[in-house]
Amino acid sequence: MRIPLLAGNWKMYKTVAEAVEFVRRLKEALSGVRGVEVAVCPPFTALYAVARELAGSNIALGAQNMYWVEEGAYTGEVSPVMLKEIGCRYVILGHSERRQYFGENDENVNAKVKAALKHGLVPIVCVGERLEEREAGHTEEVIAGQVRRSLAGLSGTELAGLVVAYEPVWAIGTGRTALPEDAQQVNAFIRHLLAGMGGREAARQVRIQYGGSVKPENAAELLGQPDIDGALVGGASLKVDSFAAIVRAA
Ligand code: 13P
Repeated sequence: MRIPLLAGNWKMYKTVAEAVEFVRRLKEALSGVRGVEVAVCPPFTALYAVARELAGSNIALGAQNMYWVEEGAYTGEVSPVMLKEIGCRYVILGHSERRQYFGENDENVNAKVKAALKHGLVPIVCVGERLEEREAGHTEEVIAGQVRRSLAGLSGTELAGLVVAYEPVWAIGTGRTALPEDAQQVNAFIRHLLAGMGGREAARQVRIQYGGSVKPENAAELLGQPDIDGALVGGASLKVDSFAAIVRAA
């Protein structure tokens, strides 16, 4: 049985002080919640302080990106070793905003996925089609290319342990959510692809989230779909009440 993962991607929001205050309140709001896994992914500057605040709680920590090299002359980058040291469990890789604004592509996402796994971090690998691709009927082709290239060269065991987030680009930050049955269809398709790459057992175990305008009002229906194993939440993860409501809906 797959345990749903509800992860908050804070993007470039919250100072250290705001982040620490937020997780203090989130811990209270989620005390007693069972049967789900919860993670927050603050900006790099807040990771260390949030890690200390989360110590001993059942909320996990994730980063929003990393480089694939362990150390070196790479100004502005952060390595998997550094994330692991401060207590990150997850790292979001290949988010569409990184692909759109920072030149990421499936090949460097693949290098990052391999480096994350090597250092014991769990990658949350984002894939998703753009609006024009969906409208042209190319969703499956686009998703298949992203999944095959981003996850190339991984064993069945490695595939089983990571997280894929299906985030249709047109649903991110737009308030326009995928219909639950459409999201289910794409998630099931991703699971089918992964079965081809790593075997049926890996596909049965891998968690596949949905992301894109997830809110308390639509969470239960999305999370009730058989192949949707949690959510990657942007805007609604920035408020304790709405994120806690989404967690409770899982
Ligand atoms: P929103 O929930 O704000 O649409 O963002 C989704 C997202 O990009 C999560 O990674």
